[in-house]
Amino acid sequence: MRIADKTTTAVSLVKEALEKAKKYEDKHIFVSLNEENALKKAEEIDAKIANGEKVGRLAGVPYALKDNFLSKEGNTTASSLMLEPFHSPIDSTTVKKLEAEGAIMIGRTNMDSFAHGSSTENSYFGPTKNAVDDERVAGGSSGGSAVAVALDIVPFATGSDTGGSIRQPASFNGVYGFKPTYGTISRYGVVAMASSTDCIGFFTKNAEDMDLLMEICAGQDENDMTTLPDYYSETPEKPAKKIGIIKDFDNDAVDQDIRNVLAEKVEFLKNEGYEIVELDMPTLKYALAVYYIVVPAEVTSNLSRHDGIRYGYRSEDAKDLGEIFSKSRNEGFMSENKRRIMIGNFVLSSGFYDAYYLKAQKARTKIIEEYNKAFEKVDYILTPVSPNPAFKLGEKVNDPVSMYLEDVMSVPINLAGVPSVAVPVGKTESGLPLGLQVVGPRRSDKNLLKFASVLEGDK
Ligand code: GLN
Repeated sequence: MRIADKTTTAVSLVKEALEKAKKYEDKHIFVSLNEENALKKAEEIDAKIANGEKVGRLAGVPYALKDNFLSKEGNTTASSLMLEPFHSPIDSTTVKKLEAEGAIMIGRTNMDSFAHGSSTENSYFGPTKNAVDDERVAGGSSGGSAVAVALDIVPFATGSDTGGSIRQPASFNGVYGFKPTYGTISRYGVVAMASSTDCIGFFTKNAEDMDLLMEICAGQDENDMTTLPDYYSETPEKPAKKIGIIKDFDNDAVDQDIRNVLAEKVEFLKNEGYEIVELDMPTLKYALAVYYIVVPAEVTSNLSRHDGIRYGYRSEDAKDLGEIFSKSRNEGFMSENKRRIMIGNFVLSSGFYDAYYLKAQKARTKIIEEYNKAFEKVDYILTPVSPNPAFKLGEKVNDPVSMYLEDVMSVPINLAGVPSVAVPVGKTESGLPLGLQVVGPRRSDKNLLKFASVLEGDK
């Protein structure tokens, strides 16, 4: 990823990335391109290199930014009319850190609006298409970022993962997708979805690039009180010996190709000398229900700031203050956003709070405990990312429950706050990419990434 050896220039890398982005325009990967600023920055970096000045570890590396990261360059929309247009006066912490190392943002990627979804079909700008099949979804909500990396437009892209939004699109498009331990990377300046599970992470082509991005972006931030002190770069090496697999995740609801690739990898690991341990984690079957109570509750609260007054969209035909609120929100939000706002208000309302929200929080604690117990027995856990490979565009978008079921294997991890990396490990018979995820205990991120690349071994 480093270009300071003068074999190429930042300008040519950025030009190439922009050309590729345009070539794939029909896939709807980008919401907006950042052409002028990107080229200007590239020229500055080339000039620095020519002058022998010191440049950062990502000098001249083009990257794509998920459209929920604030940056002073261009507008941030979170793929929603509600933020169209919104020009941010600040950079998110991640953007600041990447750019301090010389990375160059070439465009903002498409996503499900406000990150609500598992296919990128809930975008105000229309769906992103899968990297290998135009009739299939990119996955979501960070679909644009995953496809941008899969098609080699950029070597890395940012993502946010509240319940699987990095790992599932990574798996659908055949790239690495990492959701770190909760609090490892600052959430400051990223449009909030559910603050207790939102995690910032990346898409890359390999584990080494991911490690470099983590080195750069992990760390405490005074603007995000939930960030952890930087443990990442100081993690002592700890080789893995025991790998857990979850009995309940191997059932008929899971696509046969995925079960096959999991079985192959288990065999591979055994041959490599790892001990495979079958785990019984019965509480995980409640995770999806818990997630779809806790997350909408937080969504409701985070989205209340979009009122047509402070920023973003305002309805044209609102006649008074009440109508500014109601019409702007009604026109600006998409139906999935509204569904979450309604569920969230319902589970928080008096009379239902104890039955839903409080109970879900208690169940969340049980899920956390179950992971803690599992990690007393094993170093990492290997599972599918989702029950199926990339599905057809339109197949689930009008059936919210079947869309939510996509998340059944990814959300328990967010509820527990543990790290997980999606690794591209194979293909279906028809050539669709397949990924598996490796889950680790809290703060095992660095070693987890190291282990993840082992899985690619016999690909
Ligand atoms: N698909 C999940 C949801 O819709 C996850 C979204 C995310 O991680 N942003 O809630």
